[in-house]
Amino acid sequence: MPRDYYEVLGVSREASDDEIKKAYRKLARQYHPDVNKEDDATHKFREATEAYEVLRDPDKRARYDRFGHSGVNGQAGGFGGFSSGGFTDLNEIFEEFFNMGGQSRGGRQSRRSPRAGRDIRYDMTLTFEESIFGVEKEIEVTRLERCATCQGSGAEPGTEPRTCVECQGSGEVRRVRQIFLGNMVEVAPCPRCNGTGKIIDTPCHTCKGQTVVRKTAKLKVKVPGGIDDSSRLRVAGEGEPGENGGPNGNVVIFFHVQPHEFFRRRENDIILDLHINVAQAALGATINVPTVDGNVTLDIPTGTQSGKVFTLRGKGAPNVRPDGTSLSRGDQLVVVQVAIPTKLNAEQRRLLEELGRTLGTEAEPQRVGKGFFDRVMDFFSGEQK
Ligand SMILES: [Zn+2]
Ligand SMILES: [Zn+2]
Repeated sequence: MPRDYYEVLGVSREASDDEIKKAYRKLARQYHPDVNKEDDATHKFREATEAYEVLRDPDKRARYDRFGHSGVNGQAGGFGGFSSGGFTDLNEIFEEFFNMGGQSRGGRQSRRSPRAGRDIRYDMTLTFEESIFGVEKEIEVTRLERCATCQGSGAEPGTEPRTCVECQGSGEVRRVRQIFLGNMVEVAPCPRCNGTGKIIDTPCHTCKGQTVVRKTAKLKVKVPGGIDDSSRLRVAGEGEPGENGGPNGNVVIFFHVQPHEFFRRRENDIILDLHINVAQAALGATINVPTVDGNVTLDIPTGTQSGKVFTLRGKGAPNVRPDGTSLSRGDQLVVVQVAIPTKLNAEQRRLLEELGRTLGTEAEPQRVGKGFFDRVMDFFSGEQK
């Protein structure tokens, strides 16, 4: 006595077409004899397929609901009873099912359809100045290239690859198998030509029939100004070759900027810490300050305190735009600290002592407010104008 079809698929009698389809797919994947070698797998697969064949068809399902198995016997019952036509849906399921089971769809598509080549990573170290102003460099990348001897055909010059007779050049074989209830289509890469669609009788002596060779290529790269460690530069089309007419991959350059002795970057600004002496801070001074563009003069006003930040407009790093051009530049920020002398000669000591006498002996408590460190932090967080 055959089991109830709903029970076989594990769905309720009110199950939608979709639920029935899903339930069947699940069982088909589980019990297909090509993946499941257990003894009762074939039986379970047949049972599920028979149940699905009835329940997917509204007429048959209605008859089954009213009369049970006898309602569909003759039309649907028995494994020989089905016509081999009209199984598109089943074939689709099998195809999908097969693609999941090793003969992957990806593998099948990739054999014949265009596919972009792989990207190649290149790590480039820049000096701080190069990162600011840009540089032109020649780099070497090792990559696969289309073989020049055979023009990428894989066949020795003077010979031609033949079209594979087994797959007629399609690279895949479709086997139609007569199974329990009808036809089943299996798609797999052609075993004779490895899915290439071509047979090479005389392989190219350079690439041994591989169509590509590993080569080291020299590339001229124009690095724009404004690069930092997070920047990436894509050299389009210089990666590994695409397949089946697909585009080449790219070379992607990752940057490593060497630290500078004096300068550091904060986004597009360059920061310089500068020590001035007590006299310069108190009396004011005009001093030379290094920038990436060379020395400039900076006026220190009288009474400059530690933590004061001076802005040198346009002396920072360029803003790099996605197209590699850079327009505006950031600023250089000069963070001043008043250096207290630690070694004094006799003359300096005498002068300071004299100064000390005129300044008095009292220390001055400060109201709660911003100290040096707070002021610098405020500046960099943009709170202070
Ligand atoms: Zn070759
Ligand atoms: Zn073939």
